[in-house]
Amino acid sequence: MSSIYKSGAFAQQCFAAHRETLSFRKIGPPSDVIMDCSSCEMEHSLSVLEFSSTLPQPIENAFDHFNNCISQHARALRVSAMDISKDFAAARCSECNRSFDLEIGAFQSSR
Ligand SMILES: [Zn+2]
Ligand SMILES: [Zn+2]
Repeated sequence: MSSIYKSGAFAQQCFAAHRETLSFRKIGPPSDVIMDCSSCEMEHSLSVLEFSSTLPQPIENAFDHFNNCISQHARALRVSAMDISKDFAAARCSECNRSFDLEIGAFQSSR
């Protein structure tokens, strides 16, 4: 049986303690970003209100681009920032050399 925690605390701790084992897995409908972590063996999901990308230059369709990264080369996509007090997370794709800002509506972790 799995336990579900409706809090960002686990995702924040995961990022702080072992971000290198935290990886993006998929986007669930309609805009939940699903990550999993091989260290704590938890799944973290972020309900994203808004995707944006301004680096290296601003683009309009940040969600489409992020969706493409996660489906084509998820391993190149890393969590680069996480601040649950600001409902904020950021990701960087080393394949596309692009950074994404994610405004989060809700965090959830499960195992
Ligand atoms: Zn973890
Ligand atoms: Zn990419």
